[in-house]
Amino acid sequence: MIHELAHKLDMLRDGANGAPPMHPDMRPGEWHDIFSAAWDRLENDLQHHRSLPLDDYALTSPAEFFAVCSETFFETPETMKQDMPKVYGLLCQFYRQQPLPVAASKMQLAGNN
Ligand SMILES: [Zn+2]
Repeated sequence: MIHELAHKLDMLRDGANGAPPMHPDMRPGEWHDIFSAAWDRLENDLQHHRSLPLDDYALTSPAEFFAVCSETFFETPETMKQDMPKVYGLLCQFYRQQPLPVAASKMQLAGNN
């Protein structure tokens, strides 16, 4: 459900490519950099048979990566925040949601500085 919804959002701009339309206060460049870095790290973990914080189906395409990250963000936010703090921060901005209580999450949003 969340997964499919993420695909729908993703498709609103240039087809499903893992880069959905963002809020005006978000930076597409930052989105790209953070998601690319997370992808590279997970792919490396996978190659070295380390366990991943999300379903490895995520690594089939950027669109699936975004959809699986969204799923993980809502279903196991603790895991995501711990293992992928920057992606977690971006998804908080994107979905305008805080799956974890703010006090517990001490957002690692790089801040708009
Ligand atoms: Zn999918």
